[in-house]
Amino acid sequence: MRTLVLWVALIVLAHAPSAQTKVTGLLCENLKDPLGVVDPAPRLTWRILSDRRNTMQSAYEVRVATDPSDLARGANLAWNTGKTASDRSVHIPYAGKTLKSGTVYHWQVRVWDDQGKPSPWSPPAKWQTGLMQPSDWKAKWIGPGFSEDSVDQPSPYLRRSFRTQAKRIAQATAFITALGMYEGSINGRRIGDAVLTPGWTSYGKRLQYQQYDVTDLLRNGENAVGVVLGNGWYRGFIGFSGQNNFYGSRSGLLFQLDILYADGSRETIASDNLWTSSYGSIQSSEIYHGERIDNRLEKKGWDMPGYQDMVWTNCLELEGPFPTLVTTVNEPVKRQESFKPLKVITTPKGEKVIDFGQNLVGWVVVKARGESGDSLRISHAEVLDKAGNFYTENLRAARQQNVYILRGEGEEVFEPHFTFQGFRYIRIEGLKDSVRPGDFTAVALYSDMPRTGTFVSSSPLLNQLQHNIEWGQKGNFLDVPTDCPQRDERLGWTGDAQAFARTATFNRNVNPFFAKWLKDLSADQLPNGSVPFVVPNVLGPGATGACGWADAATIIPWTMYLAYADRRILEDQYESMKAWVGYIQGVSRNDLWNTGFHFGDWLFYTMGDDNAGNAAVTDRYLMAQAFYGYSVQLLAKTARVLGRLQDAARYDSLSLRVREAFNREYVSPNGRVSSNTQTAYVLALHFDMLPESLRAQAAQRLVDNVRQYGNHLTTGFLGTPYLCHVLSRFGHADVAFTLLMQESYPSWLYPVKMGATTIWERWNGIRTDGTFEVPSMNSFNHYAYGAIGDWMYRSVAGLDTDEEGPGYRHVVVKPHVGGGLTKAMATLDTYYGTASSGWERKDGRLRLSVTVPPNAKATVHLPVSSAQDLTEGGRSIAGSKEVVIGGVRDGRLTLACGSGTYVFEMPFAHAGSSK
Ligand code: BGC
Repeated sequence: MRTLVLWVALIVLAHAPSAQTKVTGLLCENLKDPLGVVDPAPRLTWRILSDRRNTMQSAYEVRVATDPSDLARGANLAWNTGKTASDRSVHIPYAGKTLKSGTVYHWQVRVWDDQGKPSPWSPPAKWQTGLMQPSDWKAKWIGPGFSEDSVDQPSPYLRRSFRTQAKRIAQATAFITALGMYEGSINGRRIGDAVLTPGWTSYGKRLQYQQYDVTDLLRNGENAVGVVLGNGWYRGFIGFSGQNNFYGSRSGLLFQLDILYADGSRETIASDNLWTSSYGSIQSSEIYHGERIDNRLEKKGWDMPGYQDMVWTNCLELEGPFPTLVTTVNEPVKRQESFKPLKVITTPKGEKVIDFGQNLVGWVVVKARGESGDSLRISHAEVLDKAGNFYTENLRAARQQNVYILRGEGEEVFEPHFTFQGFRYIRIEGLKDSVRPGDFTAVALYSDMPRTGTFVSSSPLLNQLQHNIEWGQKGNFLDVPTDCPQRDERLGWTGDAQAFARTATFNRNVNPFFAKWLKDLSADQLPNGSVPFVVPNVLGPGATGACGWADAATIIPWTMYLAYADRRILEDQYESMKAWVGYIQGVSRNDLWNTGFHFGDWLFYTMGDDNAGNAAVTDRYLMAQAFYGYSVQLLAKTARVLGRLQDAARYDSLSLRVREAFNREYVSPNGRVSSNTQTAYVLALHFDMLPESLRAQAAQRLVDNVRQYGNHLTTGFLGTPYLCHVLSRFGHADVAFTLLMQESYPSWLYPVKMGATTIWERWNGIRTDGTFEVPSMNSFNHYAYGAIGDWMYRSVAGLDTDEEGPGYRHVVVKPHVGGGLTKAMATLDTYYGTASSGWERKDGRLRLSVTVPPNAKATVHLPVSSAQDLTEGGRSIAGSKEVVIGGVRDGRLTLACGSGTYVFEMPFAHAGSSK
């Protein structure tokens, strides 16, 4: 039913008329109205709305002012482009007056379309600059005035009262960061709605601060600011070896409040030794282990004016060195969906358990009533075992438990602050009465990335798979891309991130998210260019350089460029990309990379291999060589985009040599790749490592291999993302569909059939007999295998872009009909607007609906080879002025069109087509 509603809504949306050309969706640095912009030339993006087909922009005018009324009048402008002939509407760098620190800039745009008609001015948008010079920081690093140890220690509470002057406050901006995590409030009201701030970066080199507009929180006269600190990633337990204090052992706060009065005067309230410190109700907090809150120890009113803090200890100013401060360029983690209990269960062991129906990442808000000292213990788990009992063994050392102690005054509401849990179930201990479902609300937390994509098909199982992929992404895009969110790991594994990156670009806008994380990747790259297994690197300098993991350094920037046309990511990462390839060159001999440690095709299918007689083990050095080839190709392309033509030529020739070395070492003259596995063929083909003449044969060997396994995949983390792409590219989409729709293990739908609500780490996290795989590595929320989402969007629904017009400036529509599906549809919110491709098969005909946003163009590859009996909007296509019929490529008729919605209908006989 939900699916049906979505379908109808999408179709209605796609057809909604708009009166005239308008400009909307203004973004600065790929964010809506961001604060903390320090780039001297922030990039501006806007979206055109038009109900006329083939709308292009022929010119634009941008104006920017620090005062909204100046903007409206077009006076005192910081930048006025005048009417500028250009068809660019995405990533236009600001080029006005030098930007000032901590200042709000208001801006708007109008455009002229391809017929020369102007749009009205867009509604205004804004950005606020951050602290652009180190000298703009007046605050001092402070810590509590008592000695602390970070193991299970209470959270320090820091406060300060101050008076504002008796005049109107025009603007108040807070700049905050911490060694550890922080949560701030002014006059008892929370500063912002971000959680787990300041987020996780390679703290040793880069520490983010957040910037908040707090104008509404201040009052005239006395004010109070309070900040609570938690251990967080900085000094809490991190990694699976039980280490804490990885970045430092003391907690610290840096806080600056800049007040601008209406008369133009300014005042700054900053952290210094006039602040006081004490303890409060948060008794301990650890990311993995959870939080303990004792409400009896709450200091009521501590962050309100008038609070008597005479017994509090003065804060200490800390001695450096301190990490370099950087602004925040990505969306912070925020509270997202909330869930009420689906079921209250008493398990066979007699435990009280709540099922929230969705494996998610976040925490549970609990309401409780009782006597002073009563305590509640909430434990978290992803699954129940075969017998129906609460199962926590796969959490390894992570306790994932919150303990709440009541003050004993009416209803008390508990919620943790500096931790998060991966769970679908909670166990409740200590409750005297029976469980009241209304007292428990699970809240999902993840980086606040806008939702951009939808994929819907006629198969409920496939739709559930899409749901699981989305939830895998939500739970593991928590400021850094993590492998899993529940056990004592939760690290930014580079291999997992690169495998999933392209899929991620469909479901959400992950452009700022990865722009930030890639900066940490560069920061933690070794001087010799090697790239860590995890970023931020908490595993040490020896944990670097594995193929398919370290290649995140080249693959992710290129993926962001393709999906978002973000050339600046390529510029920013170029040295890092080069250094990674330089590292491989350094450890290779005769262009062959066959040294060092590699994870290989992690978690490939193994069970039953002996019976099949051809184990799915792929030679690790073969994979290393293939990824070497791929990284060099991406680097050469990047060099070309950036206009570094000498580099491009150099990497082109290196790429040829790497390919030759691959063939010499691993390929027989007949095209047999020396590991006769799916992953070996997939990588060799996807990365174009084989000579043209051997490719079709190699693809056939891949198909044979799939057949040998009874139409099952056997790939692990490295082969899986490209498996179906390779099959469809070489004319075997039918086999790709067989794998996609396969319901028995190993397959994508097997976990779906077993009731999964997220993507599992292993193909068989729960075995067919209901028992679990080894608890030491059995996460039920690990996005890597969700990489199939990319094929669902790009090849099933057929919505893609290409290098000639990245960021969906050039929309490429190339659907594959098969798998017994009667329909499939994808929509994507691009920087140009919504693009979509959806097909429906009925009575021997195929209907394909395509939406192309204004100022973009599309090439549509239809699964027919002639225009005979082809209609658009019910009329023969032959006479259309809006659609241009091109040639036949790979057996498909191609059409070119511009913006608008088109409905093509064509004869379509064979359901199992592999085109
Ligand atoms: C993580 C991964 C990671 C792998 C590398 C695991 O513990 O969960 O997903 O890529 O280690 O070996």
